[in-house]
Amino acid sequence: MSEFALIDRFFKRVPRDAAVRIGIGDDAAVITPSAGMELAASVDMLVEGRHFLQGSDPVRLGHKTLAVNLSDMAAMGATPRWALLAGALPDEDPEWIAAFMSGFEALATAFNVELVGGDTTRGPRNLCVTILGEVPAGTALTRVGANVGDDVYVSGTLGDAAAALAGLTSRTRFEAETLATLRLRLEAPTPRVALGSTLRGIATSCIDVSDGLVGDLGHILEASSAGAHLSLALIPRHPAVDAKLAGPERSAALQWLLAGGDDYELCFTAPRATAGRIEALAKELALPLTRIGMVRAERDLVVDDERGRPLASLPRPFDHFG
Ligand code: ADP
Ligand code: MG
Repeated sequence: MSEFALIDRFFKRVPRDAAVRIGIGDDAAVITPSAGMELAASVDMLVEGRHFLQGSDPVRLGHKTLAVNLSDMAAMGATPRWALLAGALPDEDPEWIAAFMSGFEALATAFNVELVGGDTTRGPRNLCVTILGEVPAGTALTRVGANVGDDVYVSGTLGDAAAALAGLTSRTRFEAETLATLRLRLEAPTPRVALGSTLRGIATSCIDVSDGLVGDLGHILEASSAGAHLSLALIPRHPAVDAKLAGPERSAALQWLLAGGDDYELCFTAPRATAGRIEALAKELALPLTRIGMVRAERDLVVDDERGRPLASLPRPFDHFG
């Protein structure tokens, strides 16, 4: 199949979104932005062998490729609208591409995101999505703005994805059912888009947890010129991760919980006075929002263990060049 036949068969579509005046098929997409909105733009690349294992399920990979980008929009409080997909593929395996696009499409449809362009080339498997979103002018959530005394929150549970990866690569063992659940969190994360946009006007700062809590909260603290005091006992986790934390695999479990990447939950700060609204929001979204500590003036990150003593050292965050 030629490059153009591939594009026609798998990527070209009639735009559903009236804002897309010109979609796939020309040299560039042409979009009418909404009045009063600012554009949020972000790009994320997934490389085989680095971000996903060779032989990963293509449907889930299609989901994840878009999900990680929607998560960046969520972290900004933006509504994702338009995506561009650049793919390097080792071969033109139509079954693989169809499966990949079914995962991508399902998530795009669920979030009303329109694929408006991309690029297709031969090469080592590599998927790259550019996402454009909209946010009311001046209201985007950022990493700057955490104030001393704010509460620190995270959504969902942390460490699931890293625990799954450890299980899949035989560094630990989980019961089959547990591993399947954790694996879904690794391979098909749910971007917290509704949470992000509702946090506009509530949260003072926000980030998505893609590289682990210590590193990502660290970015907020750095940008906000502050520190934080957390309690390990408060950090929400899957019961199977909790069980490992209490046993001989404690240091691995600490690593998953504090520095595991790929969870795509939101970490945010908010004034104590908004605690009631956040509690109500958690109920409304059916998503746990857990207070895990507080922002403080001393510019370091301290995590107390279960007995209230600071952990002597925190696991190092993941760094591609570290
Ligand atoms: P150009 O040569 O101008 O870069 P291409 O021939 O690469 O254009 O692409 C033709 C059209 O198909 C463009 O509108 C481009 O955005 C779209 N396209 C190519 N690959 C993809 C893809 N993987 N996903 C979505 N759209 C794509
Ligand atoms: Mg091109």
